[in-house]
Amino acid sequence: MRIAIIGCGASGLFAGGLLSQQHEVTIFDKNEKCGKKLYITGKGRCNFTNNCSKEQFLENTINGKKFMYSAISQLSPQNIIDFFEQLGLKTKTERGGRVFPVSDKSSDVIKSLQKFCSKCQIKLNEQVDDLHYVSSENLFKISTKKGVYFFDRVVVATGGQSYSSTGSSGDGYKFAKAFGHKIIPIKPALAPIEIEEQFVNQLQGVSLKNVSLNGVADGKKLSFFGEMLFTDKGISGPISLTMSSYINRAENVELSIDFKPALTMEMLEKRVLKDVQELSNKTMGTFVCSYLPKSVGKVLLQRLGIDIQQKVNGLTAAKREEFVQLLKSFSLKFKRLYPLESGIVTSGGVGLDQINPKTMESKLQKGLYFIGEVLDVDCLTGGYNLTTAFATAYACAVNMK
Ligand SMILES: Cc1cc2nc3c(=O)[nH]c(=O)nc-3n(C[C@H](O)[C@H](O)[C@H](O)COP(=O)(O)OP(=O)(O)OC[C@H]3O[C@@H](n4cnc5c(N)ncnc54)[C@H](O)[C@@H]3O)c2cc1C
Repeated sequence: MRIAIIGCGASGLFAGGLLSQQHEVTIFDKNEKCGKKLYITGKGRCNFTNNCSKEQFLENTINGKKFMYSAISQLSPQNIIDFFEQLGLKTKTERGGRVFPVSDKSSDVIKSLQKFCSKCQIKLNEQVDDLHYVSSENLFKISTKKGVYFFDRVVVATGGQSYSSTGSSGDGYKFAKAFGHKIIPIKPALAPIEIEEQFVNQLQGVSLKNVSLNGVADGKKLSFFGEMLFTDKGISGPISLTMSSYINRAENVELSIDFKPALTMEMLEKRVLKDVQELSNKTMGTFVCSYLPKSVGKVLLQRLGIDIQQKVNGLTAAKREEFVQLLKSFSLKFKRLYPLESGIVTSGGVGLDQINPKTMESKLQKGLYFIGEVLDVDCLTGGYNLTTAFATAYACAVNMK
């Protein structure tokens, strides 16, 4: 069969390599090189999968959990590791099961995939402008500025719509729509969060470790423990990015930071009382530093209406209680997420109801397939999004008839 793949990213390259064992495969990409987004993954180190079980993968899948069951059963994270090892790429597992090339170079992952695709015809600098099915010929027609081509099967592997300078500018949604597919509205995921309050820019660059970011999104309670940081307009860092993926489809969002999640309210009250007695002659500015970084402490005291020069012994019982409450629940007014462009992944995309989860084939058009981030599947950080790209590519390639 003659097969076209639109997109030479993670999913397109993997599907191309697999399909080219038996078929004539052409991969189109608008870019001058393959895997432009892959190149910037994992801060240039490419966290290409997670050394985890199928169940753990699904736990880290936010949208598309049920849909991904079949694909991840066909290609497990361990299979992905073995695949790259067999191609000669040495791999290593780091904190949280994250898998990287030993070289710490994403370019080595790209090289492996390119080697795997040696039988494919790769057409770079060639954007697909139009995709049609010609029923009289029983063929798909692909139009680019350089020509018109006909294929028996087409795989859309165009990615999402964030970091569009890497080529993923949402063209796949346009192709899918033309075939009658429903597109789930796209939203940024794994993106920083904008906060209404102005104080955040005073804290830009300050990071907090071992805190909980708590949220309520349309009534649903959420809580993530770990590291976060303040940006010019809001918050970022691991737990903020995770939170963004859970709140991006919600209408009402409330957020707060628990600076001392390891301590219950009661334990914290006791500790504060003890510290107040021991540090009674110090200023509140000094006192607060035993709980928080100085700049954050300053903001907390501002919120309490307490001067940093005030002596600890002047703290009333009511203010002490308020202080404890703020340490446990420092509210942040949610404004919105940072723009789509800055999301590590795109949430939303080609609706899953109209895609066969075993094969990735469109239920509306035989011979047409969608793989990777163009689908309405998104996962947390840790190598799960590339795992999705590879697993959907595999399901498509091995089941294509
Ligand atoms: C900064 C950053 C870091 C990331 N780090 C990680 C990580 O460490 N681990 C992880 O698992 N995930 C990571 N991700 C997410 C991961 O990169 C994506 O989920 C994954 O690349 C999606 O693969 P894909 O094949 O669907 O799309 P892409 O890799 O985006 O490839 C799509 C390709 O299609 C091409 N294309 C689009 N439209 C057309 C057209 N009309 N004609 C021709 N070609 C077209 C594009 O040029 C592009 O090359 C990261 C993302 C970003 C932005």
